[in-house]
Amino acid sequence: MPTEIQHFVGGRRVAGTSGRTAPVYNPATGEQTGSVALASTADVGAAVEVAARAAPGWADVTPLRRARILNKFLRILEERTDDLAAAITAEHGKVLSDAKGEVQRGIEVVEFATAAPILLKGEVTENVGTRVDSHSLRQPLGVVAGITPFNFPAMVPMWMFPVALACGNTFILKPSERDPSASLLIAEWLKEAGLPDGVFNVVHGDKEAVDALLTHPDVKAVSFVGSTPIARYIYETAARTGKRCQALGGAKNHMIVMPDADLDQAVDALMGAAYGSAGERCMAISVAVPIGQKTADALIERLVPRINALKIGPGTDPESEMGPLVTAQHLAKVRSYVDLGEAEGAKLLVDGRSFKRQGYENGYFIGGTLFDHVTPEMRIYKEEIFGPVLAVTRADDYDTAARLINEHEFGNGTAIFTRDGDAAREFAHKIQVGMVGINVPIPVPMAFHSFGGWKASLFGDHHMHGPEGVRFYTKLKTITTRWPTGIRAGADFVMPTMK
Ligand code: NAD
Repeated sequence: MPTEIQHFVGGRRVAGTSGRTAPVYNPATGEQTGSVALASTADVGAAVEVAARAAPGWADVTPLRRARILNKFLRILEERTDDLAAAITAEHGKVLSDAKGEVQRGIEVVEFATAAPILLKGEVTENVGTRVDSHSLRQPLGVVAGITPFNFPAMVPMWMFPVALACGNTFILKPSERDPSASLLIAEWLKEAGLPDGVFNVVHGDKEAVDALLTHPDVKAVSFVGSTPIARYIYETAARTGKRCQALGGAKNHMIVMPDADLDQAVDALMGAAYGSAGERCMAISVAVPIGQKTADALIERLVPRINALKIGPGTDPESEMGPLVTAQHLAKVRSYVDLGEAEGAKLLVDGRSFKRQGYENGYFIGGTLFDHVTPEMRIYKEEIFGPVLAVTRADDYDTAARLINEHEFGNGTAIFTRDGDAAREFAHKIQVGMVGINVPIPVPMAFHSFGGWKASLFGDHHMHGPEGVRFYTKLKTITTRWPTGIRAGADFVMPTMK
Protein backbone atom coordinates (compact mmCIF):
# COMPACT_ATOMS: atom_id res chain seq x y z
CA MET A 1 0.00 0.00 0.00
CA PRO A 2 1.47 3.40 -0.92
CA THR A 3 2.05 5.68 2.10
CA GLU A 4 -0.19 8.72 2.39
CA ILE A 5 1.92 11.87 2.37
CA GLN A 6 0.11 14.75 4.04
CA HIS A 7 0.69 18.49 4.54
CA PHE A 8 2.26 19.87 7.72
CA VAL A 9 0.45 22.92 9.04
CA GLY A 10 0.35 24.46 12.50
CA GLY A 11 2.74 21.87 13.93
CA ARG A 12 0.96 18.71 12.74
CA ARG A 13 0.25 16.58 9.70
CA VAL A 14 -3.07 17.40 8.01
CA ALA A 15 -4.84 15.65 5.13
CA GLY A 16 -6.22 18.72 3.34
CA THR A 17 -9.63 18.91 1.73
CA SER A 18 -8.98 18.74 -2.01
CA GLY A 19 -9.35 14.97 -2.41
CA ARG A 20 -6.67 15.21 -5.13
CA THR A 21 -3.42 13.21 -4.85
CA ALA A 22 -0.37 12.39 -7.00
CA PRO A 23 1.62 9.13 -7.04
CA VAL A 24 5.20 9.04 -5.72
CA TYR A 25 7.56 6.36 -7.06
CA ASN A 26 10.79 4.63 -6.13
CA PRO A 27 12.75 5.47 -9.30
CA ALA A 28 15.04 2.44 -8.93
CA THR A 29 12.16 -0.06 -9.08
CA GLY A 30 9.32 1.88 -10.69
CA GLU A 31 7.10 0.89 -7.78
CA GLN A 32 4.58 3.41 -6.39
CA THR A 33 5.55 3.98 -2.77
CA GLY A 34 3.48 6.99 -1.83
CA SER A 35 0.48 9.10 -2.60
CA VAL A 36 0.91 12.80 -1.92
CA ALA A 37 -1.97 15.14 -1.13
CA LEU A 38 -2.31 18.05 -3.58
CA ALA A 39 -3.48 21.21 -1.84
CA SER A 40 -6.49 23.16 -3.03
CA THR A 41 -6.64 26.96 -2.94
CA ALA A 42 -8.58 26.63 0.33
CA ASP A 43 -5.89 24.35 1.84
CA VAL A 44 -3.23 26.93 0.97
CA GLY A 45 -5.42 29.69 2.41
CA ALA A 46 -5.69 27.77 5.69
CA ALA A 47 -1.89 27.35 5.86
CA VAL A 48 -1.27 31.03 5.13
CA GLU A 49 -3.73 31.95 7.86
CA VAL A 50 -1.83 29.79 10.36
CA ALA A 51 1.52 31.26 9.27
CA ALA A 52 0.15 34.82 9.41
CA ARG A 53 -1.14 34.24 12.93
CA ALA A 54 2.28 32.95 14.01
CA ALA A 55 4.18 35.81 12.35
CA PRO A 56 4.00 38.65 14.91
CA GLY A 57 5.03 36.35 17.79
CA TRP A 58 7.97 34.89 15.86
CA ALA A 59 9.10 38.35 14.72
CA ASP A 60 9.26 39.35 18.40
CA VAL A 61 11.37 36.35 19.45
CA THR A 62 14.90 37.71 19.92
CA PRO A 63 17.42 36.79 17.20
CA LEU A 64 19.48 34.96 19.82
CA ARG A 65 16.53 32.72 20.76
CA ARG A 66 15.80 32.05 17.09
CA ALA A 67 19.47 31.11 16.66
CA ARG A 68 19.28 28.68 19.60
CA ILE A 69 16.36 26.85 17.99
CA LEU A 70 18.23 26.67 14.68
CA ASN A 71 21.27 25.37 16.57
CA LYS A 72 19.22 22.56 18.05
CA PHE A 73 17.79 21.78 14.60
CA LEU A 74 21.37 21.70 13.28
CA ARG A 75 22.34 19.06 15.84
CA ILE A 76 19.29 16.94 14.94
CA LEU A 77 20.21 17.19 11.25
CA GLU A 78 23.77 16.10 11.96
CA GLU A 79 22.61 13.12 14.02
CA ARG A 80 19.98 12.05 11.48
CA THR A 81 21.70 12.82 8.18
CA ASP A 82 21.40 9.15 7.22
CA ASP A 83 17.62 9.15 7.73
CA LEU A 84 17.15 12.26 5.61
CA ALA A 85 19.49 10.91 2.92
CA ALA A 86 17.55 7.62 2.83
CA ALA A 87 14.27 9.51 2.35
CA ILE A 88 15.84 11.47 -0.53
CA THR A 89 17.25 8.38 -2.27
CA ALA A 90 13.96 6.50 -1.91
CA GLU A 91 12.03 9.12 -3.92
CA HIS A 92 14.67 10.94 -5.98
CA GLY A 93 16.88 7.97 -6.84
CA LYS A 94 20.31 9.62 -6.36
CA VAL A 95 23.01 7.50 -4.71
CA LEU A 96 23.10 7.65 -0.91
CA SER A 97 26.56 9.24 -0.70
CA ASP A 98 25.33 12.05 -2.97
CA ALA A 99 22.14 12.45 -0.89
CA LYS A 100 24.32 12.82 2.22
CA GLY A 101 26.36 15.46 0.40
CA GLU A 102 23.14 17.32 -0.37
CA VAL A 103 22.14 17.26 3.31
CA GLN A 104 25.61 18.52 4.27
CA ARG A 105 25.31 21.49 1.92
CA GLY A 106 21.92 22.27 3.50
CA ILE A 107 23.38 21.97 7.00
CA GLU A 108 25.90 24.66 6.07
CA VAL A 109 23.08 27.14 5.43
CA VAL A 110 21.60 26.30 8.84
CA GLU A 111 25.06 26.97 10.34
CA PHE A 112 25.10 30.34 8.56
CA ALA A 113 21.60 31.16 9.84
CA THR A 114 22.58 30.45 13.46
CA ALA A 115 24.53 33.71 13.23
CA ALA A 116 21.17 35.56 13.24
CA PRO A 117 22.19 38.08 15.96
CA ILE A 118 25.22 39.09 13.88
CA LEU A 119 23.44 38.96 10.52
CA LEU A 120 20.70 41.29 11.76
CA LYS A 121 22.97 43.95 13.24
CA GLY A 122 22.08 47.32 11.77
CA GLU A 123 24.10 50.44 10.99
CA VAL A 124 24.36 53.69 12.92
CA THR A 125 25.65 57.13 11.98
CA GLU A 126 26.05 59.61 14.77
CA ASN A 127 25.59 63.29 13.89
CA VAL A 128 24.02 63.07 10.44
CA GLY A 129 23.03 66.62 11.39
CA THR A 130 23.68 68.70 14.48
CA ARG A 131 22.56 66.49 17.37
CA VAL A 132 20.75 64.26 14.86
CA ASP A 133 21.53 60.52 14.55
CA SER A 134 20.41 57.87 12.06
CA HIS A 135 20.20 54.12 12.35
CA SER A 136 19.14 51.45 9.86
CA LEU A 137 17.69 48.11 10.79
CA ARG A 138 16.24 45.11 9.04
CA GLN A 139 12.78 43.78 9.90
CA PRO A 140 11.03 40.57 8.77
CA LEU A 141 8.55 40.59 5.89
CA GLY A 142 5.89 38.35 7.50
CA VAL A 143 4.75 35.18 5.72
CA VAL A 144 7.13 34.06 2.97
CA ALA A 145 6.87 31.04 0.65
CA GLY A 146 9.39 28.69 -0.97
CA ILE A 147 8.56 26.62 -4.06
CA THR A 148 11.21 24.02 -4.79
CA PRO A 149 12.27 21.50 -7.48
CA PHE A 150 12.63 17.72 -7.33
CA ASN A 151 16.38 17.55 -7.76
CA PHE A 152 17.43 18.68 -4.26
CA PRO A 153 14.45 17.90 -2.00
CA ALA A 154 16.38 18.87 1.17
CA MET A 155 19.15 21.26 0.11
CA VAL A 156 17.12 23.72 -1.97
CA PRO A 157 14.47 24.24 0.77
CA MET A 158 17.45 24.71 3.12
CA TRP A 159 18.80 27.49 0.87
CA MET A 160 15.65 29.35 1.88
CA PHE A 161 13.95 28.63 5.20
CA PRO A 162 16.91 28.76 7.65
CA VAL A 163 17.65 32.34 6.56
CA ALA A 164 13.96 33.30 6.39
CA LEU A 165 13.32 31.96 9.90
CA ALA A 166 16.51 33.52 11.32
CA CYS A 167 15.28 36.87 10.00
CA GLY A 168 11.95 36.47 11.85
CA ASN A 169 9.60 35.39 9.04
CA THR A 170 7.16 32.51 9.04
CA PHE A 171 7.50 30.08 6.14
CA ILE A 172 5.37 27.97 3.81
CA LEU A 173 7.24 25.37 1.77
CA LYS A 174 5.69 23.92 -1.39
CA PRO A 175 8.14 21.14 -2.25
CA SER A 176 8.22 19.11 -5.44
CA GLU A 177 5.33 16.65 -5.58
CA ARG A 178 7.75 14.07 -7.02
CA ASP A 179 9.82 13.63 -3.82
CA PRO A 180 7.84 15.23 -0.99
CA SER A 181 8.83 13.13 2.05
CA ALA A 182 12.11 14.88 2.99
CA SER A 183 10.20 18.10 3.68
CA LEU A 184 8.05 16.39 6.32
CA LEU A 185 11.08 15.08 8.22
CA ILE A 186 12.47 18.62 8.20
CA ALA A 187 9.16 20.04 9.51
CA GLU A 188 9.02 17.50 12.34
CA TRP A 189 12.65 18.07 13.33
CA LEU A 190 12.16 21.85 13.39
CA LYS A 191 9.21 21.32 15.78
CA GLU A 192 11.33 19.00 17.91
CA ALA A 193 14.03 21.70 18.03
CA GLY A 194 11.51 24.05 19.62
CA LEU A 195 10.17 26.02 16.67
CA PRO A 196 6.68 27.30 17.60
CA ASP A 197 3.78 25.73 15.69
CA GLY A 198 2.79 27.62 12.55
CA VAL A 199 6.24 29.15 11.94
CA PHE A 200 7.21 26.48 9.38
CA ASN A 201 4.54 24.78 7.28
CA VAL A 202 4.54 22.43 4.30
CA VAL A 203 1.81 22.34 1.66
CA HIS A 204 2.18 19.80 -1.10
CA GLY A 205 0.69 20.45 -4.47
CA ASP A 206 0.88 21.42 -8.09
CA LYS A 207 -0.03 24.53 -10.08
CA GLU A 208 -3.18 25.14 -8.02
CA ALA A 209 -1.19 25.38 -4.77
CA VAL A 210 1.52 27.52 -6.39
CA ASP A 211 -1.02 29.93 -7.87
CA ALA A 212 -2.77 30.19 -4.50
CA LEU A 213 0.53 31.19 -2.85
CA LEU A 214 1.36 33.64 -5.65
CA THR A 215 -1.93 35.48 -5.37
CA HIS A 216 -2.53 35.37 -1.61
CA PRO A 217 -2.29 38.92 -0.22
CA ASP A 218 -0.70 37.74 3.06
CA VAL A 219 2.27 36.08 1.32
CA LYS A 220 4.88 38.84 1.14
CA ALA A 221 7.72 37.13 -0.73
CA VAL A 222 8.28 34.07 -2.91
CA SER A 223 11.52 32.15 -3.39
CA PHE A 224 11.44 29.75 -6.32
CA VAL A 225 13.86 27.24 -7.80
CA GLY A 226 12.93 25.16 -10.84
CA SER A 227 12.84 25.26 -14.64
CA THR A 228 13.09 28.53 -16.57
CA PRO A 229 9.55 28.70 -18.04
CA ILE A 230 8.03 28.25 -14.56
CA ALA A 231 10.58 30.63 -12.97
CA ARG A 232 9.60 33.33 -15.47
CA TYR A 233 5.90 32.72 -14.76
CA ILE A 234 6.48 32.86 -10.99
CA TYR A 235 8.44 36.11 -11.24
CA GLU A 236 5.90 37.81 -13.49
CA THR A 237 2.92 36.71 -11.38
CA ALA A 238 4.58 37.63 -8.10
CA ALA A 239 5.53 41.06 -9.47
CA ARG A 240 1.96 41.63 -10.63
CA THR A 241 0.65 40.82 -7.14
CA GLY A 242 3.24 43.11 -5.50
CA LYS A 243 5.44 40.45 -3.93
CA ARG A 244 9.18 40.34 -3.57
CA CYS A 245 10.48 37.43 -5.68
CA GLN A 246 13.66 35.53 -6.44
CA ALA A 247 13.08 32.86 -9.10
CA LEU A 248 15.99 30.63 -10.09
CA GLY A 249 15.67 28.75 -13.38
CA GLY A 250 17.41 26.20 -15.58
CA ALA A 251 20.95 25.92 -16.83
CA LYS A 252 23.32 24.74 -19.56
CA ASN A 253 26.73 24.91 -17.96
CA HIS A 254 29.85 24.89 -20.15
CA MET A 255 33.34 23.80 -19.15
CA ILE A 256 36.24 25.09 -21.25
CA VAL A 257 39.25 22.78 -21.43
CA MET A 258 42.31 24.79 -22.49
CA PRO A 259 45.18 23.04 -24.32
CA ASP A 260 47.43 23.49 -21.27
CA ALA A 261 44.94 21.90 -18.80
CA ASP A 262 45.82 18.78 -16.85
CA LEU A 263 43.63 16.45 -18.93
CA ASP A 264 43.33 13.70 -16.32
CA GLN A 265 42.06 16.23 -13.80
CA ALA A 266 39.69 17.69 -16.40
CA VAL A 267 38.30 14.23 -17.21
CA ASP A 268 37.79 13.38 -13.51
CA ALA A 269 36.00 16.70 -13.10
CA LEU A 270 33.79 16.14 -16.14
CA MET A 271 32.81 12.64 -15.04
CA GLY A 272 31.52 13.87 -11.66
CA ALA A 273 30.01 17.10 -12.98
CA ALA A 274 28.23 15.59 -16.00
CA TYR A 275 27.13 12.21 -14.63
CA GLY A 276 26.87 12.75 -10.84
CA SER A 277 23.23 12.65 -9.72
CA ALA A 278 22.49 11.40 -13.28
CA GLY A 279 22.99 14.94 -14.57
CA GLU A 280 19.95 16.16 -12.59
CA ARG A 281 21.79 19.15 -11.10
CA CYS A 282 21.38 22.78 -12.07
CA MET A 283 25.18 23.07 -11.73
CA ALA A 284 25.91 19.93 -13.80
CA ILE A 285 28.30 20.45 -16.70
CA SER A 286 26.36 19.59 -19.84
CA VAL A 287 28.71 21.07 -22.46
CA ALA A 288 32.47 20.48 -22.62
CA VAL A 289 34.34 22.93 -24.85
CA PRO A 290 37.85 21.70 -25.61
CA ILE A 291 40.07 24.26 -27.35
CA GLY A 292 41.69 22.95 -30.54
CA GLN A 293 41.25 19.60 -32.27
CA LYS A 294 44.18 18.01 -30.43
CA THR A 295 42.71 18.79 -27.00
CA ALA A 296 39.29 17.59 -28.16
CA ASP A 297 40.59 14.27 -29.49
CA ALA A 298 42.65 13.60 -26.36
CA LEU A 299 39.71 14.48 -24.09
CA ILE A 300 37.31 12.19 -25.96
CA GLU A 301 39.82 9.35 -25.95
CA ARG A 302 39.96 9.50 -22.15
CA LEU A 303 36.24 10.15 -21.59
CA VAL A 304 34.72 7.28 -23.61
CA PRO A 305 36.12 4.35 -21.57
CA ARG A 306 35.31 6.15 -18.32
CA ILE A 307 31.66 6.65 -19.35
CA ASN A 308 31.39 3.03 -20.47
CA ALA A 309 32.71 1.96 -17.06
CA LEU A 310 30.22 4.04 -15.01
CA LYS A 311 28.66 1.96 -12.24
CA ILE A 312 24.93 2.53 -12.57
CA GLY A 313 22.41 1.04 -10.17
CA PRO A 314 20.00 1.73 -7.34
CA GLY A 315 21.00 4.60 -5.06
CA THR A 316 21.01 2.25 -2.08
CA ASP A 317 23.82 0.11 -3.58
CA PRO A 318 27.09 1.52 -2.17
CA GLU A 319 28.82 0.50 -5.43
CA SER A 320 26.58 2.74 -7.57
CA GLU A 321 28.10 5.97 -8.89
CA MET A 322 24.92 7.01 -10.67
CA GLY A 323 21.28 6.18 -9.94
CA PRO A 324 18.12 6.30 -12.07
CA LEU A 325 16.27 9.39 -13.29
CA VAL A 326 13.41 10.67 -11.17
CA THR A 327 10.32 9.53 -13.11
CA ALA A 328 9.29 7.56 -16.18
CA GLN A 329 8.25 10.84 -17.87
CA HIS A 330 11.65 12.39 -17.27
CA LEU A 331 13.37 9.26 -18.59
CA ALA A 332 11.25 9.46 -21.75
CA LYS A 333 12.21 13.14 -22.14
CA VAL A 334 15.94 12.50 -21.75
CA ARG A 335 15.79 9.55 -24.19
CA SER A 336 13.98 11.74 -26.72
CA TYR A 337 16.84 14.26 -26.53
CA VAL A 338 19.30 11.48 -27.39
CA ASP A 339 17.11 10.57 -30.40
CA LEU A 340 17.01 14.24 -31.34
CA GLY A 341 20.79 14.66 -31.10
CA GLU A 342 21.26 11.81 -33.58
CA ALA A 343 18.65 13.31 -35.91
CA GLU A 344 20.35 16.71 -35.70
CA GLY A 345 23.64 15.17 -36.84
CA ALA A 346 25.70 15.17 -33.64
CA LYS A 347 28.07 12.21 -33.33
CA LEU A 348 26.81 9.79 -30.67
CA LEU A 349 29.92 8.24 -29.11
CA VAL A 350 28.37 6.60 -26.05
CA ASP A 351 24.67 5.70 -26.15
CA GLY A 352 23.06 5.12 -22.75
CA ARG A 353 19.61 4.25 -24.11
CA SER A 354 20.13 0.50 -24.09
CA PHE A 355 21.31 0.36 -20.44
CA LYS A 356 19.57 -2.29 -18.33
CA ARG A 357 20.30 -3.33 -14.77
CA GLN A 358 19.37 -6.88 -13.87
CA GLY A 359 16.70 -7.02 -11.17
CA TYR A 360 15.76 -3.35 -11.78
CA GLU A 361 14.19 -3.61 -15.22
CA ASN A 362 11.30 -1.31 -14.25
CA GLY A 363 13.59 1.40 -12.84
CA TYR A 364 14.06 4.69 -14.71
CA PHE A 365 17.67 4.03 -15.72
CA ILE A 366 19.64 5.42 -18.63
CA GLY A 367 23.37 5.04 -19.16
CA GLY A 368 25.90 7.84 -19.46
CA THR A 369 25.72 9.36 -22.94
CA LEU A 370 28.28 11.37 -24.93
CA PHE A 371 27.84 13.41 -28.09
CA ASP A 372 30.71 14.91 -30.07
CA HIS A 373 30.53 17.65 -32.74
CA VAL A 374 27.53 19.33 -31.14
CA THR A 375 27.00 22.74 -32.74
CA PRO A 376 25.28 25.86 -31.35
CA GLU A 377 22.28 25.59 -33.72
CA MET A 378 21.28 22.17 -32.39
CA ARG A 379 18.45 21.91 -29.87
CA ILE A 380 20.54 19.49 -27.77
CA TYR A 381 22.98 22.39 -27.36
CA LYS A 382 20.43 25.12 -26.70
CA GLU A 383 18.03 23.31 -24.35
CA GLU A 384 18.49 21.92 -20.88
CA ILE A 385 18.29 18.09 -20.99
CA PHE A 386 18.75 17.48 -17.24
CA GLY A 387 20.09 13.97 -17.66
CA PRO A 388 23.46 12.16 -17.97
CA VAL A 389 24.09 13.49 -21.48
CA LEU A 390 27.32 15.39 -22.14
CA ALA A 391 27.78 17.39 -25.34
CA VAL A 392 31.24 18.17 -26.69
CA THR A 393 31.28 21.41 -28.68
CA ARG A 394 34.69 21.94 -30.23
CA ALA A 395 36.14 25.46 -30.45
CA ASP A 396 39.27 26.60 -32.28
CA ASP A 397 40.27 29.18 -29.70
CA TYR A 398 39.41 30.67 -26.31
CA ASP A 399 37.54 33.68 -27.76
CA THR A 400 35.15 31.42 -29.68
CA ALA A 401 34.49 29.36 -26.52
CA ALA A 402 33.85 32.43 -24.37
CA ARG A 403 31.51 33.83 -27.04
CA LEU A 404 29.51 30.57 -27.01
CA ILE A 405 29.00 30.88 -23.26
CA ASN A 406 28.17 34.57 -23.35
CA GLU A 407 25.63 34.11 -26.14
CA HIS A 408 23.86 31.18 -24.47
CA GLU A 409 20.39 31.83 -23.04
CA PHE A 410 21.39 30.46 -19.61
CA GLY A 411 24.06 31.79 -17.23
CA ASN A 412 23.99 29.65 -14.11
CA GLY A 413 27.47 28.12 -13.74
CA THR A 414 30.60 27.65 -15.82
CA ALA A 415 34.18 26.47 -15.45
CA ILE A 416 37.56 26.71 -17.12
CA PHE A 417 40.35 24.14 -16.76
CA THR A 418 43.76 25.65 -17.42
CA ARG A 419 47.19 26.28 -15.93
CA ASP A 420 47.28 29.78 -17.43
CA GLY A 421 46.47 32.40 -14.79
CA ASP A 422 46.05 35.08 -17.40
CA ALA A 423 43.38 33.15 -19.29
CA ALA A 424 41.65 32.20 -16.03
CA ARG A 425 41.55 35.81 -14.85
CA GLU A 426 40.18 37.04 -18.19
CA PHE A 427 37.52 34.31 -17.99
CA ALA A 428 36.47 35.16 -14.41
CA HIS A 429 36.34 38.87 -15.22
CA LYS A 430 34.44 38.85 -18.52
CA ILE A 431 32.24 35.76 -18.61
CA GLN A 432 28.47 36.46 -18.43
CA VAL A 433 27.61 33.79 -15.86
CA GLY A 434 26.71 34.03 -12.16
CA MET A 435 28.94 31.28 -10.70
CA VAL A 436 32.39 30.64 -12.12
CA GLY A 437 34.89 27.85 -11.41
CA ILE A 438 38.62 28.01 -12.12
CA ASN A 439 39.70 24.36 -12.19
CA VAL A 440 36.55 23.75 -10.12
CA PRO A 441 33.81 22.02 -12.12
CA ILE A 442 30.80 22.66 -9.84
CA PRO A 443 31.43 26.07 -8.25
CA VAL A 444 28.49 26.07 -5.82
CA PRO A 445 29.13 28.96 -3.40
CA MET A 446 29.37 28.15 0.30
CA ALA A 447 26.48 29.14 2.57
CA PHE A 448 28.11 32.43 3.66
CA HIS A 449 28.35 33.53 0.02
CA SER A 450 25.23 33.65 -2.16
CA PHE A 451 24.00 31.25 -4.86
CA GLY A 452 22.51 32.39 -8.14
CA GLY A 453 22.91 32.58 -11.90
CA TRP A 454 22.49 35.29 -14.52
CA LYS A 455 20.33 35.70 -17.63
CA ALA A 456 17.50 33.09 -17.93
CA SER A 457 18.85 31.26 -14.87
CA LEU A 458 17.56 33.85 -12.40
CA PHE A 459 14.68 36.31 -12.38
CA GLY A 460 14.82 38.86 -9.57
CA ASP A 461 17.45 40.89 -7.80
CA HIS A 462 18.67 38.63 -5.03
CA HIS A 463 20.66 35.42 -5.07
CA MET A 464 19.95 32.80 -2.37
CA HIS A 465 21.38 32.46 1.16
CA GLY A 466 24.47 34.33 2.40
CA PRO A 467 24.20 38.13 2.64
CA GLU A 468 21.80 38.25 -0.33
CA GLY A 469 19.42 35.90 1.51
CA VAL A 470 19.33 38.19 4.54
CA ARG A 471 18.56 41.17 2.29
CA PHE A 472 15.83 39.24 0.49
CA TYR A 473 14.03 38.18 3.67
CA THR A 474 14.13 41.58 5.43
CA LYS A 475 12.87 45.12 4.88
CA LEU A 476 15.22 47.99 5.55
CA LYS A 477 14.05 50.72 7.91
CA THR A 478 16.06 53.88 8.58
CA ILE A 479 15.28 55.96 11.66
CA THR A 480 16.43 59.53 12.08
CA THR A 481 16.45 60.83 15.66
CA ARG A 482 16.76 64.30 17.08
CA TRP A 483 16.52 65.13 20.75
CA PRO A 484 15.17 68.60 21.56
CA THR A 485 17.81 70.95 22.80
CA GLY A 486 15.49 73.70 23.91
CA ILE A 487 16.20 75.72 20.75
CA ARG A 488 13.16 76.16 18.52
CA ALA A 489 14.08 76.34 14.83
CA GLY A 490 10.57 77.25 13.68
CA ALA A 491 8.75 75.83 10.64
CA ASP A 492 10.93 75.34 7.57
CA PHE A 493 9.29 74.77 4.19
CA VAL A 494 12.51 74.00 2.35
CA MET A 495 13.77 70.43 1.83
CA PRO A 496 15.80 69.56 4.98
CA THR A 497 19.52 69.86 4.26
CA MET A 498 22.72 70.13 6.30
CA LYS A 499 23.22 73.85 6.61
P1 NAD B 1 9.81 22.46 -12.29
O1 NAD B 1 9.93 23.85 -12.82
O2 NAD B 1 9.02 21.48 -13.08
O3 NAD B 1 9.14 22.49 -10.83
C1 NAD B 1 9.60 23.33 -9.81
C2 NAD B 1 8.44 23.65 -8.88
O4 NAD B 1 7.42 24.34 -9.61
C3 NAD B 1 7.78 22.41 -8.27
O5 NAD B 1 7.48 22.66 -6.92
C4 NAD B 1 6.52 22.24 -9.11
O6 NAD B 1 5.46 21.65 -8.39
C5 NAD B 1 6.18 23.65 -9.50
N1 NAD B 1 5.50 23.74 -10.81
C6 NAD B 1 5.67 22.90 -11.86
N2 NAD B 1 4.89 23.28 -12.88
C7 NAD B 1 4.23 24.39 -12.48
C8 NAD B 1 3.29 25.26 -13.12
N3 NAD B 1 2.88 25.06 -14.37
N4 NAD B 1 2.83 26.31 -12.42
C9 NAD B 1 3.24 26.53 -11.15
N5 NAD B 1 4.13 25.74 -10.50
C10 NAD B 1 4.62 24.68 -11.16
O7 NAD B 1 11.30 21.94 -12.03
P2 NAD B 1 11.76 20.48 -11.63
O8 NAD B 1 11.62 19.58 -12.81
O9 NAD B 1 11.16 20.07 -10.35
O10 NAD B 1 13.33 20.73 -11.35
C11 NAD B 1 14.30 20.75 -12.35
C12 NAD B 1 14.58 22.15 -12.83
O11 NAD B 1 15.01 22.96 -11.75
C13 NAD B 1 15.73 22.20 -13.83
O12 NAD B 1 15.38 23.11 -14.86
C14 NAD B 1 16.90 22.73 -13.03
O13 NAD B 1 17.89 23.40 -13.76
C15 NAD B 1 16.20 23.66 -12.11
N6 NAD B 1 17.00 23.95 -10.93
C16 NAD B 1 17.62 25.16 -10.88
C17 NAD B 1 18.43 25.47 -9.81
C18 NAD B 1 19.10 26.80 -9.74
O14 NAD B 1 19.67 27.09 -8.70
N7 NAD B 1 19.07 27.62 -10.75
C19 NAD B 1 18.61 24.54 -8.78
C20 NAD B 1 17.96 23.31 -8.85
C21 NAD B 1 17.15 23.03 -9.95
